[in-house]
Amino acid sequence: MKALVFTAIKEQQLLDVPTPAIDRPDGVLLKVKSVGVCGSDLHGYTGQSGRRVPPLIMGHEVTAEVVEVGATVKGLPLGSRVAIQPVEFCGVCPQCLAGRRNVCEKRRLMGMNVPGAYAEYVTWPASNLFQLPDILSYEDGALAEPLSVAVHAVSLAHIRPYDTALVVGAGPIGLLTLAVLKLTGLSRIAVSDTSDARLELARELGAQVTINPTQQNARQVVNEFTNGGGVDLAFEAVGISATAQQSLEVTRNNGTVVWIGNNQRLIEVDMQAIVTRELRVIGSYGMNDEDFQRSLRLLADGRIPTGQLINRRASLSEGPTLFDQLLASPETIKCMINFE
Ligand SMILES: [Zn+2]
Ligand SMILES: [Zn+2]
Repeated sequence: MKALVFTAIKEQQLLDVPTPAIDRPDGVLLKVKSVGVCGSDLHGYTGQSGRRVPPLIMGHEVTAEVVEVGATVKGLPLGSRVAIQPVEFCGVCPQCLAGRRNVCEKRRLMGMNVPGAYAEYVTWPASNLFQLPDILSYEDGALAEPLSVAVHAVSLAHIRPYDTALVVGAGPIGLLTLAVLKLTGLSRIAVSDTSDARLELARELGAQVTINPTQQNARQVVNEFTNGGGVDLAFEAVGISATAQQSLEVTRNNGTVVWIGNNQRLIEVDMQAIVTRELRVIGSYGMNDEDFQRSLRLLADGRIPTGQLINRRASLSEGPTLFDQLLASPETIKCMINFE
């Protein structure tokens, strides 16, 4: 099969590789239909995050068609349309038993720890496959994975009526977080980003205030927005020192900060602010099955503006040059690689 292989930092090649074989009784062989390019893949490609090690086939935001099933798989007829939950879990560790599969002690992420879906075929356990609602296209369905990251992050925040929120970063996860916050009924939401094009889209999607920290003082804008105290909730969806620090600075005393961004490993932040202002800083990683199901329902019900978020499409053969193009175009929100 053809696969886009991450062969070295800043290098991907379209190669012929063996089609994966089902290697466990509950395994499923899937023909990939749509796969989203994730920011984490871009930062793996540049070497910035260090969380992708070549040689590797990346790609974990996937919809696919079932083409072969292992001996114990039931209820998944050949030809089934599915969305892939890409965090594989052990099912028996204390975290799995408590329903927190996203922090399974033995979790493995498709496209990071095991081969991913920038390829014609991929294998994955049946328990991680979700039926794609008929009304959803493969392309829109592939947004279920990043959307469920946003649904998970918002669900960790314990939102109260009429809370004010700031989303730091208007990439796919930040904008999906904005969309989910709107659906919870919050109206007073600000978004910050260094790209004016992305901020314009954030306003179209319902951000009341936008902040470009290269031109404005974020703290000052948030003070005006909140009459002084800072936001009740901040969601950080970038993952570098400057934005992590900003998420702390703009939050009111005793407010909640959810960190979703995952880019630099070590960052510098004002720990004294966390201590003396009693900020609640919560890490958010991936999603649970319930988040994934909710995301599919939101997409099927047309509650997520997929048409505004998916604004670039490519084929697998464009892969070797695609990532450099995406890194150079912040106006691209979500790029989908589509297959025949
Ligand atoms: Zn992702
Ligand atoms: Zn586990």
